[in-house]
Amino acid sequence: AKSMGTNRLRVYKSEYGEHASRRTKLLFDLKAAIANRRLSVAYQPQFKLDESGISGVEVLARWDHPEEGVIAPDVFIPLAEQHGLICDITDFIMQTAIQELTNADLLYRQVPRLSFNVSAADFNNSHGTERFLHNLAELTGDWSVIELELTETSALLNLAGVKGVLNVLRERGVQVSLDDFGTGYSSLSTLRLLPIQEVKIDQSFVRDLATNANDARLVKTIIAMANALNLRVIAEGVESQQQAHYLKQAGCDEVQGYLYAKPMNLKALQSFIKNLSS
Ligand code: C2E
Ligand code: CA
Ligand code: CA
Ligand code: CA
Repeated sequence: AKSMGTNRLRVYKSEYGEHASRRTKLLFDLKAAIANRRLSVAYQPQFKLDESGISGVEVLARWDHPEEGVIAPDVFIPLAEQHGLICDITDFIMQTAIQELTNADLLYRQVPRLSFNVSAADFNNSHGTERFLHNLAELTGDWSVIELELTETSALLNLAGVKGVLNVLRERGVQVSLDDFGTGYSSLSTLRLLPIQEVKIDQSFVRDLATNANDARLVKTIIAMANALNLRVIAEGVESQQQAHYLKQAGCDEVQGYLYAKPMNLKALQSFIKNLSS
């Protein structure tokens, strides 16, 4: 048993070493990708359930690594957050999306709202906050087209900082959506403490709507609560007609998911919008 223990330790160590060096390389490559503007954006449309047309578009970060292929944001965003790179990524994503959509003349009319994912690390200190506000001001004069999707977990890491900046943004017309709603520890306090206009029901609740009665009741209750608080409510990860039907009947305002549109690049978004209106 003793020798087995040592063996296991050895295996663990070498796996750990491999893991750690892969992360180091990934971090190194991520810094280079940011510096060389090698990240890109994908757009996923959102829809009102009671009307046709796009209600908004969520902007999602993309990284196509030259050797390793596509790296998921679930991998590189946390890495960026841990190593102080998130502000650079947020700047890049916001700049790229606003410029692309402005140049394509899609903002406001075809795309009434542009939603960005933000981390608490974006507002970690007054420097980060000032930088965020400054960059946004450089990008557009009309902030009412901007929405920020903030997770409750991330909001609570730095509540005072986040609250301060959201109040400033709110005054300038920026909308705030509470992302991954229901997955954190204190969704309801976050709603009370921050100026929020929308809750976004996480896809983990939507996935089994049709087969899990408990999930179905939870979703219905979240929607009823949002309606009672005069908050807009959107469901993400909608993949089937059944889910869409249930959400509509429960009073959900908006939907997003593969059933309607996958995340896509600018060109695909342009033709998607063209097809909608023809
Ligand atoms: P999220 O904000 O919860 O985004 C939803 C994720 O679900 C996206 O994954 C989207 O592509 C995917 N999705 C959309 N519709 C469906 C569907 O019908 N079914 C399924 N199964 N999935 C669907 P993605 O693009 O891989 O992003 C993962 C996460 O990475 C995001 O989760 C968000 O937390 C983070 N992220 C992405 N871009 C950014 C960014 O620019 N900044 C920050 N801070 N985080 C980002
Ligand atoms: Ca989001
Ligand atoms: Ca939204
Ligand atoms: Ca989510």
